[in-house]
Amino acid sequence: MLIRFQAPDPWWSRGVQLLWLLPQAQIEKETKNWDLAVLVEEGSRELYLTVTDGNFREQRVVPALPREFLQALFQLLSQYNLGPISPWGILTGVRPGKIAAGLISRVGFDQALEELCANWLLHRDKARLLVAAVNHGYPLLRKQGLSIYISVPFCPSRCDYCSFASLPLDRWRGRVDSYVRQGAAELSELLLACRRQGHPVNSIYVGGGTPTALSPRQLEALLAPAAGWECEFTVEAGRPDTLTQEHLAVFKEAGVNRISVNSQYPLDSTLAAIGRRHTAKQFYSSLDMAVSAGLGTVNSDLIVGLPGQTPAGFADVISSLAAAGAGNITIHALALKRGAELRQQYLDEAESKEIAEAAYDRLNSLGFQPYYLYRQRNMASNLENVGFGLPGSYCYYNIASIAESEPVLGVGAGAVSKLGQGDSFLPLVNPRDVNQYLARSEDLLLRKLRWLQVDKEARP
Ligand code: SF4
Repeated sequence: MLIRFQAPDPWWSRGVQLLWLLPQAQIEKETKNWDLAVLVEEGSRELYLTVTDGNFREQRVVPALPREFLQALFQLLSQYNLGPISPWGILTGVRPGKIAAGLISRVGFDQALEELCANWLLHRDKARLLVAAVNHGYPLLRKQGLSIYISVPFCPSRCDYCSFASLPLDRWRGRVDSYVRQGAAELSELLLACRRQGHPVNSIYVGGGTPTALSPRQLEALLAPAAGWECEFTVEAGRPDTLTQEHLAVFKEAGVNRISVNSQYPLDSTLAAIGRRHTAKQFYSSLDMAVSAGLGTVNSDLIVGLPGQTPAGFADVISSLAAAGAGNITIHALALKRGAELRQQYLDEAESKEIAEAAYDRLNSLGFQPYYLYRQRNMASNLENVGFGLPGSYCYYNIASIAESEPVLGVGAGAVSKLGQGDSFLPLVNPRDVNQYLARSEDLLLRKLRWLQVDKEARP
């Protein structure tokens, strides 16, 4: 659907987020052959909004205030759409928990729920889910310290639905040893500086890509500087076809205390359809192996919106994961690639919603609680990503990074450091390209070390 959207700034940048919620929306400032026109004109203290497709035409005058503008635009678009354009109302951001947390601290749990429905136009189910996630996760946040993220961007092959930075291991094999050496050196310097300058390290998270695409020997070298460090220490094993007993032994030795083993949906026909090169049986045996290793909590990710899924089937998968010993289960919604084939291939909106509801019900009945939640653009059916865990098994890194509550030091290609405090984080992005990362990592490391020093000096 081609949308002509005309609005002076800042109303353009605010409104465009809502327009993206309309299915297949393609938004242009000037276009002649539009299907829908959304026009915003500024008065002295008010805005004149018009939404029309030729047959449909609605207009409103609203105060020139951000929330009032978004509410009116949401309502007009919902009138045009014959129903709410999103169950998330005007909360279009990636981190809706920040707004919910602010509300809860100001007016309490019950009133925050009401305000999310009344002022932010959330569907009550989403408001409940969000408030519950904030209520479980936020109390664990610490006032002091930082987290470290280590990026291992390599994968043995590329899954069809992948929207992450992932590099084919075969092409980069010749650079992996240098990458590991550089990553370990960077990690070592940062940890040393944290210790010397009194920065508590709350968590270390090794993500990807697929970290276990590296050999046990390479991972041992990469993680060696963190061995024995007393903090939450997570490794994403990601693809079960890469995880071995030797990897697990290396993790144990290094002090890893959380691991993630993922299938996205353990059904052979689904795995084949999305280009994952392993079977459901392989996944369950890797999960068993990870649980039996006794490292600590094992997480498993699932994606709602993949072919072959049904509400009952999805709920049964959750029961199987829980029975196998997964203490965390993360439910992602498929992030659609605009215009890609996937958009047509997979489930429709109603099916995905029913699956998500069945999943949340089953998790709830098994004692899992939502504890962090985030959204992305182009999520299937306007759903959300939610981390569920058994009480006491929540992942601190995920809570803190979604809440943006503390600095992060990023190690490796594509890793993002967030330097600063409060609401004033300065992102420092390592190059995604491995060669560029290797060439520039010393300079980037120096900037992180300088920040650690300056931050120490700024502390009372
Ligand atoms: S394992 Fe994850 S990061 Fe790697 S290709 Fe598949 S979806 Fe992408």
